[in-house]
Amino acid sequence: MLNLQMAFPDGVFHYACSECDALCCRGHGFGGRLEREMSSLVQLYPSLRLALVEHSSGGVSFHNPARSCYFLEDDRQCRIQRDHGYDLKPGVCVLFPFTNFRVVGTTALIRPHFLCPLRVVLPADPASVEGSHAKILEAAEASGLLNLDDAEAAGLALRLPRGVRPEALLQREARVRDACAEALRRTTMLEVLSRFVPDRTAFDESYRRCSALLDLPEETRAGDGRELEDTLLAVLPGHRVDHLTVPDSLWPLMHRVQAGIVRACTSLRRAAPQDVYSVLEASAGLARLLAWGSSAAPVHWAKLKPGAFTGAERTFAAFRFQRAAAAGKPVLDAIENALAEIGSPLERVVFLRNLAEELQVLEPRPRAR
Ligand code: SF4
Repeated sequence: MLNLQMAFPDGVFHYACSECDALCCRGHGFGGRLEREMSSLVQLYPSLRLALVEHSSGGVSFHNPARSCYFLEDDRQCRIQRDHGYDLKPGVCVLFPFTNFRVVGTTALIRPHFLCPLRVVLPADPASVEGSHAKILEAAEASGLLNLDDAEAAGLALRLPRGVRPEALLQREARVRDACAEALRRTTMLEVLSRFVPDRTAFDESYRRCSALLDLPEETRAGDGRELEDTLLAVLPGHRVDHLTVPDSLWPLMHRVQAGIVRACTSLRRAAPQDVYSVLEASAGLARLLAWGSSAAPVHWAKLKPGAFTGAERTFAAFRFQRAAAAGKPVLDAIENALAEIGSPLERVVFLRNLAEELQVLEPRPRAR
């Protein structure tokens, strides 16, 4: 069994199955351990063996029909749980939605799966919510699902860049998580991120320029937009699990830009944790590009393919960017230079997104452990 570390604040996420249309039981399959529950389930339901899709070191997975699981009843109850009790329910179903993890060294960093309509409960109350770290640890141990062999086979083990120690990375993530947890109901995402930058003035200046490029709304001050700020603080540590190799010199500005994009997008509708998470995901590439700020980027710009940019205006902007970046200009300077001829705000965003996509493939790849 892997060591476990939670990548979200303790006691703030809660779900109630009765409020949901059993989204987790519709078309995503399920799995568990042969020795815990699966051998018994196959004996009880022999046809189940033909739904097997995966088998690895004691674990098995079954597919589901697209509309709903074989065991989902019309009243949205699980037939296995109803007829045979909770202990025979597949391990992955018991753990869901805390089944979304990546492995760093020998530790699984666990964050919620936002397919589940989780809500944020404040003040944090680990004793009464489903998102309690202690409860999840207990369920994970009982499921026997989280082991290194299966995680590696599923491609969930993170390859770290040379020189990055798993312990240091995990400690950093615990610090970010705890800083976000402490800030809930008290202060802002900006205050949390500011703790992790060496030069607040440079951080503010780079953000001012990013904000001008994207026409971002004003940042939240303590007391304003409290609900959105708290949702951001609760969700961000989990979002980071997919971006653990972003260097420390980049991620504070990357998240600050993402928070600005979340504020802009969620002005269009109320922001549930799922909305915030999906906007963070959608904005990560663009924000990461801008997060180079006033640094030159150590990537091989010469590989940039101008043909990837459609339209004369964007293609010309790509050439301008490439020339400036190749000459060692800081990324924001190169971007501002490239955008000089693009006046339309929508065109600017299209260009920047396009640029972020093209550049992703050029970033130094993490080395194998
Ligand atoms: S086994 Fe039960 S809980 Fe798991 S997906 Fe099927 S209906 Fe849902």
